[in-house]
Amino acid sequence: MSDCIFCRIIRREAPARIIYQDDEVTAFHDARPQAPVHVLIVPNRHIVGIAQAEPGDALLLGKMMLVARQLAEDLKVTDGYRLVVNSGPLSGQSVFHLHLHLLGGRPLRWPPG
Ligand code: AMP
Repeated sequence: MSDCIFCRIIRREAPARIIYQDDEVTAFHDARPQAPVHVLIVPNRHIVGIAQAEPGDALLLGKMMLVARQLAEDLKVTDGYRLVVNSGPLSGQSVFHLHLHLLGGRPLRWPPG
């Protein structure tokens, strides 16, 4: 989508600290980090959110999880990290391009707020 901020980051038209990119997935540091490590893993194809993902996206969704795991290892937060997908208005989803948050580097409370 031409005006989607994450699509623009993926196309390198908007600034971001990209730490991983391949044909299907891009990962970059969150602009407003909520933990010492806060990375967003996004599909390169515009999918509005997890609620809009389809059965044919299963491999892509799995790949996002595995990229997140690899980045957690690379960023040395394997002693404790959290993967989060917000979906819908009550969750606080604010960007309508599917993204997986990787949060780590500090104690993470449960339940989340
Ligand atoms: P969510 O609330 O789950 O939709 O998360 C959206 C996330 O995107 C938030 O953590 C924002 O800080 C982050 N964000 C929004 N715009 C940008 C941007 N241009 N670059 C990096 N992160 C962003």
